[in-house]
Amino acid sequence: MTKIDISDMLTSYDKKNLTIATVCSHSSLQIFNGAKKEGFKTLGISVGEQKKIYDAFPLGSPDEHFIVDKYTDIAKYAEELREKNVIVIPHGSFVEYLGADNFLKMDLPSFGNKKVLIWESDRKKEKQWLERAGLTMPQQIKDPKDIDRPVIVKYHGAKGGKDFFVAKTYKEFTKRIIKNKRYIIQEFVLGTRYYLHYFYSPIQNNAYKLSKGSLQLLSMDRRDETTIDEVQRLGSIAELEELGIHPTFVVTGNIPIVMRESLLPKVFKMGEAVVEKSIELFGGIIGSFCLETVVTEDLDFKVFEISARIVAGTNPYISGSPYSEFIQPDLSTGRRIAQEIKYAAKNKLLEEIIT
Ligand code: AMP
Repeated sequence: MTKIDISDMLTSYDKKNLTIATVCSHSSLQIFNGAKKEGFKTLGISVGEQKKIYDAFPLGSPDEHFIVDKYTDIAKYAEELREKNVIVIPHGSFVEYLGADNFLKMDLPSFGNKKVLIWESDRKKEKQWLERAGLTMPQQIKDPKDIDRPVIVKYHGAKGGKDFFVAKTYKEFTKRIIKNKRYIIQEFVLGTRYYLHYFYSPIQNNAYKLSKGSLQLLSMDRRDETTIDEVQRLGSIAELEELGIHPTFVVTGNIPIVMRESLLPKVFKMGEAVVEKSIELFGGIIGSFCLETVVTEDLDFKVFEISARIVAGTNPYISGSPYSEFIQPDLSTGRRIAQEIKYAAKNKLLEEIIT
């Protein structure tokens, strides 16, 4: 199958009649709600009986439901979707359900720079990007025999913290490790977690100025992770581990949070560095992204991950956050994405923000 050029796709589009589409999951209620507020038509792609759920939230439900047998079929319907002037908004579940390869191959205009997937989905490349940007990541331990402090073991491609575990010694590591799965070992950073939600516009200069375009901080959250966040209700982790009960890191929800204002300069510096390095490496990250951080008692940020699109941690803020309220009342990340597309369409800049 030959790839269709993005500019050819967009040439055939009726720019006054664009449809914002995404997969019905993750942050889709917010994306549809934000798109509707900006006057777009909306389309929700789903497998099976999702519509019933969205009917319960009329202001967050898409105008049209597009039901497929399986998510990997979306590519098959690309032509039909293009006839509806669809621009897709990727979110974590969208990319996961489809698979990064299929997502990259999909002949549909997509908000953001698809190339970011290559840098984000490979832990080695992600580390290169963030460290070359000057961010501090938790120290990595190459050989499990060198474990001399609490570490967290993460599997490649694992979603939502699945099967991650904490070990304090090599012996603990060998007891818990799942054979034949690729993993990395990171020092377990003690501190408080902040998941920072940025928005980078390469085409608007109305926020924190970068070499090209500008950066906003729209909100931040803390993830609620089971069982690590509640396990202490039963006893100390050490006690429970003796009984064979180990804390896990599966995300179940998100909690709104604000940070000491004096830390904001560091937050912007990190965001700036990540964007500037991305421009150098692959033409630039576009739109929403999230740095997942731990702030230590010395008020240093350690960044353990980047998500290069809208994160579910923005969901508590559908009517604005304690940060976005200082930009514009009632501004969610979903709405901000819609605004960017609207601005680009009006100023003939869609190719700058869509791939
Ligand atoms: P991740 O999949 O990398 O986002 O990690 C899942 C969860 O594990 C995070 O949300 C954190 O709660 C925790 N975590 C990840 N890396 C570290 C680290 N180096 N130190 C402490 N906690 C971590």
